[in-house]
Amino acid sequence: MKRPTLIAAVIGVIALVAFPLGIENPYYIHLVETIMIYAIVLFGLDIVVGYTGQVSLGHAGLFGIGAYTAGVLVMKLAAPLWITLPAAIAVTAVFGALLALPALRVTGPYLAMVTLAFGTIVQILINEMSFLTEGPMGIKLDKPMLFGLQLGERGYYWVVVAMLVASLVVVHRILRSHLGRAFEALRGSPVASDCMGVSVYRYKVYAFVISAGLAGLAGSLYAYSEQYISPNTYNFELTVMFLLAIIMGGRKTRSGALLGAAIIVMLPKLLDDIELFRWVAVLIAIGVVAGSAIALKRGKATPRSVAVPVLGSIALAGVSFVLTTMTDWRLSIFGVITLFVVYFLQDGIIGFLRNALNWHSRVEVPAVDASSAPKDAVSTAAQHSAPELLVAQGVLMQFGGLKALNNVDLSVKRGTIHGLIGPNGSGKSTMMNVLTGIYTPTGGTLAFAGRSLVGRTSADIALSGIARTFQNVQLFGEMTALQNVQVGLHHSFRSHLADVALHTPRYRREERAAAQRALALLEFVGLADLVHEEARNLPYGKQRLLEIARALALDPQLLLLDEPAAGLTAPDIKELISIIRKIREHGITVILIEHHMDVVMSICDTVSVLDFGQKIAEGLPAQVQADEKVIEAYLGGQAT
Ligand code: ADP
Ligand code: MG
Repeated sequence: MKRPTLIAAVIGVIALVAFPLGIENPYYIHLVETIMIYAIVLFGLDIVVGYTGQVSLGHAGLFGIGAYTAGVLVMKLAAPLWITLPAAIAVTAVFGALLALPALRVTGPYLAMVTLAFGTIVQILINEMSFLTEGPMGIKLDKPMLFGLQLGERGYYWVVVAMLVASLVVVHRILRSHLGRAFEALRGSPVASDCMGVSVYRYKVYAFVISAGLAGLAGSLYAYSEQYISPNTYNFELTVMFLLAIIMGGRKTRSGALLGAAIIVMLPKLLDDIELFRWVAVLIAIGVVAGSAIALKRGKATPRSVAVPVLGSIALAGVSFVLTTMTDWRLSIFGVITLFVVYFLQDGIIGFLRNALNWHSRVEVPAVDASSAPKDAVSTAAQHSAPELLVAQGVLMQFGGLKALNNVDLSVKRGTIHGLIGPNGSGKSTMMNVLTGIYTPTGGTLAFAGRSLVGRTSADIALSGIARTFQNVQLFGEMTALQNVQVGLHHSFRSHLADVALHTPRYRREERAAAQRALALLEFVGLADLVHEEARNLPYGKQRLLEIARALALDPQLLLLDEPAAGLTAPDIKELISIIRKIREHGITVILIEHHMDVVMSICDTVSVLDFGQKIAEGLPAQVQADEKVIEAYLGGQAT
C-alpha cells in the first residue's frame, strides 16, 4: 500500500473505533454499524462486478443465507459467535458455488436472470421452510456473547469494526495477488486469460465463491446487529441497492465500496429530511464544481465534458430549496442521481476524484536489484528426442459451408522457426486458434509433444507448453505492463487463498520471484521503462512486444506469433527480428505468421504456405518464394 493510503487507512480505523465513545445515541452507532456491514458485502460484490466484470443479482440472497445461518444456529443450538460467523461464511460460500458452477457458464443478461432467480428462490425458501426459519415470523436473537461477556451496542460495534478491517485486509491482499490479477485479466480479455493458462471459468467461480463468503459474513453480522431477521429483508431492492453502491462508489476500490455503503444507508434517511438534503446537495454541488475546475486546469477534462455534471449538481441544489417536502419526490430524485452517476461518473465517485486529482493507485514492485534479476529471462525449453514437436494431420475446420482449413498437414521441428504465410483469409489465424483450443477442429489430428490437443481447453493446452500472441492484440487493458506479464506467470504460483490472506513466506517468495521474472521479461523485449504503464496506453508496437513478453512468461516449448510485425515501424521490426532469434536460441520453437516477407525470409527455417485453407507449398524460404503456385496465390489474392 502506498504510504498516504496506509496513513489514511490507519486514521480511518482509529476514527471508527473511537466513534461510539463520543456518541450516546445508539441510533447513530447502529447506523455506522450497518454501513460497515454493507461495506463487507460490497468488498465481495466488487470482486465479481468490478474485477471479473460479471453481474450478480443474487447477492441479497447470499446475504440472507448468511443471516439465517447465524439466526438458525443461535435459535436451535444457542451457538456462540465464533461458530456462527465461520459457519455463515462456509454455508454461504457453498451456496455461492452451487449458484456459480452452472450460472457462470453463461454471461450478460442470462447470468443476471439466473442470479436473480436464485435470489428469489432463497427468499421463498426462507419463507416456506418454517421448521428451520420460522417462516414469515422471522427469528429474534440477542447480541452475542464474547469471551464470556454479553456484548452491548458498543461492544458489538467493535466486533463489526474488527470484521470490517479483517475483510478489508484479506480482500485487499487477494486482489493484489496472482488471484486478483487472474480476476482482472479475465475481464480484460477472456480469450487471452485462457491462453495464458488462467481458466476463465474456474476463476469466475472462484471469485464468486469468495464474494459469497463475504456476503455470508456480512449477513451473520447483520442478524446480530438487527437482532431480528425476516425473509422480506433480502429482496430484489436490496440486491439493486448493492449494485448501485458499487456503481456510485466506484468499482475496483475499497474506498469506493465504503462510500457506496454509506450512500445506500444514508440516502433513504437523507431523502426523509429536507433540511439535511439541502445541505448535502449544496456540498455535492461545491464538490463537483471544485473537482471539475481542477480537472479543467490539469487538462483532464473539457468544458463540454464537465458542463452537465456541474449544471446538474447546481440544479439539484437549486431544486432542493424549492421543494418543501421530499416524500413525493424521493423515488424520482433517487432515479435522477443514479442516472447522473451512471452517465457522467462512470468510474464512480472515487474514480472521478482519483482522475481529477491525478491520484492513481500503483502496485508496488519489490525493489529489484538489477544484478539479481535473472540474466536469462527466457527459460530454455526442455529438449526431447523426437525431432517433431508438433504434428498436425488432415486438419479440417469448417464454419458452416466454409472450410477455413481444408485437410492441412503441418509438421514443426523442435527448435526451428516455422513460417506460416498466405494471403488474407487463407486460414493462418484459424490454424493458431485450432492449435490453442479456441476452436475444436471439425476433423483431423493434432499432436503436441506426443499428446493430442483435440478437445482440450485453451488453459490446459497453454499449461502444457503452447503460448501465443494475437493478431488483434489481446492485452489486459486496465492492468499495467508488469501485471500483464505477471498473469502469464500465474502457473508459477502454488500459493492458495490462505497463503495469500496470511501472506505466508511461500506466497511472498513466489510473488517476489514472479515480479523479478516479469521485470526481466519486460527488459528482454525492451519495455523496461514502461513497466507501470497501463497496457491500453502503450503505443501499438509496444503492445505487440508486451504480448510476446507475456507469452514467454508461460515458459512455452512452442510460441505462436500471429503477425507480430503488423503496425511496427522499421526500427521496431529489426528489434523484433532479433528478439525472435534470441527466443529460438533458447530452444523455443516458433510458428510465425507474417506478411512482411523480409522478416519471414530472414529468420524462418521452414515456410508453409496456405491458400483458401489448403497448404499449397512448403520448404526452405528461398524455395517457397520461387514457387509458382505461391506467386500466383499472392498475385491472385492481393492486388499488391
Ligand atoms: P488469415 O489467414 O487471414 O489469418 P483466418 O484464419 O482469420 O485468415 O480466416 C480464414 C477464413 O475463415 C476467413 O474466410 C474467415 O472469414 C473465416 N473465419 C475465421 N474464423 C471464423 C469464425 N469464427 N466463424 C466464421 N468464419 C470464420
Ligand atoms: Mg490472420
